Amino acid sequence: MAESAVADTPTVENHTFQAETRALLGLMINSLYTHKEVFLRELISNASDALDKVRLRALTEHGLLGDDTKLEVVLRPDEKAGTLTISDNGVGMTKDELTKFLGTIAFSGSREFMQKLSGDASKDAKLIGQFGVGFYSAFLVAQRVVVVSRAAGHDEAWTWTSSGEGTFTLAPGGRLRRGTDIVLELRDEQKEFLQPWRLRELVKKYSDFVGHPIVLESEEVEGEGADEKRTKSTETINKGSALWTRPKGEVTDEQYAEFYKHVSHDWDDPLARTHFTIEGTQLFTGLLFVPKRAPFDLFHREMRSGIRLYVKRVFIMEECQALLPEHLRFVRGVVDSDDLPLNVSREVLQHDLVVESIKRQVTKKSLEMLEALASERKDDYAAFWKEFGAVLKEGLHLDPNNKDRLAKLLRFESTHEGGGLASLADYVGRMKEGQPAIYYISGPDRAFLEKSPHIEGLKKKGYEVLFFTDAVDEWVATALPEFEGKKLVSAMKGEIKLEGEAKDEEKKDEADPAWGGLIQAMKDALGDRVKGVRMTERLTDSPACLVAGEHDLGANLERILKQHGQGGLPGGRRTLELNGSHPLVVNLRELVKEPKHRERVRQWTEVLHDQALLTEGSPIADPVAFAQRMTALLVESTARELGETPAGGEAPKVEV
Ligand code: ADP
Repeated sequence: MAESAVADTPTVENHTFQAETRALLGLMINSLYTHKEVFLRELISNASDALDKVRLRALTEHGLLGDDTKLEVVLRPDEKAGTLTISDNGVGMTKDELTKFLGTIAFSGSREFMQKLSGDASKDAKLIGQFGVGFYSAFLVAQRVVVVSRAAGHDEAWTWTSSGEGTFTLAPGGRLRRGTDIVLELRDEQKEFLQPWRLRELVKKYSDFVGHPIVLESEEVEGEGADEKRTKSTETINKGSALWTRPKGEVTDEQYAEFYKHVSHDWDDPLARTHFTIEGTQLFTGLLFVPKRAPFDLFHREMRSGIRLYVKRVFIMEECQALLPEHLRFVRGVVDSDDLPLNVSREVLQHDLVVESIKRQVTKKSLEMLEALASERKDDYAAFWKEFGAVLKEGLHLDPNNKDRLAKLLRFESTHEGGGLASLADYVGRMKEGQPAIYYISGPDRAFLEKSPHIEGLKKKGYEVLFFTDAVDEWVATALPEFEGKKLVSAMKGEIKLEGEAKDEEKKDEADPAWGGLIQAMKDALGDRVKGVRMTERLTDSPACLVAGEHDLGANLERILKQHGQGGLPGGRRTLELNGSHPLVVNLRELVKEPKHRERVRQWTEVLHDQALLTEGSPIADPVAFAQRMTALLVESTARELGETPAGGEAPKVEV
């Protein structure tokens, strides 16, 4: 919050901007200096929102508008004073609102934002797009900004003044009617914004679709001094019809983009859009967009999300969450319904059948927009996926009706050569003859997973393996046991049967005299730290690995949950699998036959087990003992290189 300081006159109060606001201001001025003109779009957008709000309130608060019923935005350049005023007769702001709205960033992600700042202006500039900081763009062109506002239904006005350098003042008075004047004292180099032609041009470019009249009030000055004659002229300079009501063919890409910026408060163009009218049981128009970048608060509970709701062209509410399912919360835009009542409230929206039906259609149209993006613009879809994939995945659990469509939109990295993201359909199309399942492996990142022992056998067979690198991917797998009839199988869980034939390995191993001895010795050594020991086809180069049961949590998820403080979970015991074609395992099988080697086999089993933990990214229980055993083994082998017998020629002396 802004801090109040001692007032230097009885009525003028001095305030300090919230630290985040200050940082943002500096950043914005640096990053947008070549796009200064956007200030006009931002201020008109705020003025138009204020008009929407007062019109809405007037529906229930009779008399709120008084005789001031013609809602409009007025642009008033004053060449003499060097000021441009953007004026509206909207809801206005009270003193508290002026302090709060213009002195702080009411945004849940502002702390993250600050942490992300690198100090490199060109990098930081890109972050700006993820913020709604419209008002502050006034400082791009103005050395001082004066905001005079009187809230609807209040009888006092307040004047807010700032040079954008960390402080602002508040003083009573300045306006007799409802609404807000934003007075920009333009910098010398920015005087072009006093030219009527320039203002017309900018309104055409950025704000033509604003649903209220934008009136240019210019003055011609003739003569000087006592002979000076001023003639005022007013003209409406925008079309004034809501953009979504126009036929698609008549709206240009640029106009759509500007409209998107207006509703979303984004600074960047949208990545994709869909504009449609539904004429079924409900009549409504929708204009939906996907942003290029995720906002900072995408995973915050209090994220600003939802679309704008209009009823018969009348603005009803911003951020209407009832119209979008949770997993599409990144979609922005407008829905304009002909069926909802004008006095609809948020509470009513939650349970309204009309709303339910609109939501279903909005969901369908949003998915169609993503499907089109995925098939027509692969690179853009990959960019979308990077920003919002994790959110879309939530839908697999939340929206069972659309599970099949959502499954087709999933993308993963994989072992497939040529890189790029794989869809499940791509994967199935590339499956080898006789390949029984879709394989995946979960872990922190591609580089780590590529080297994992768990996928050695699969890679050798030429089977593609999907990399589940997102924390929620394993959870995705639980919602999606199969895709197009192919099972999704974790390379780290259960038994892998590469040939597809069913055989009960464990039973066979125990009975198999060749391996039975080693398996038993290892089980004895590891006790209840493992669920069992068995031979596997999973490995080719590594001697051993640990695998979870088919329905167990899995090492990756367990680690993630622990990181998030869920340490009390029972650590899932895993099965130690051995590679029967690895020389080390073969040697152990022979050594274990001699009782005198038993103790050393026990030590080596410990080393193998610890290695298996390390290669899957899990911590080992006793790193010191592990290091001591490794050291002893190295001593032995270096001594052998020198032709000596290691001290005592016996097992390394490690107590466990
Ligand atoms: P945003 O529009 O993204 O919320 P801004 O910095 O542009 O961010 O504005 C902050 C808030 O100040 C707005 O949400 C609105 O409540 C208030 N505001 C700005 N301009 C006006 C105006 N002309 N009339 C009434 N309120 C305004």
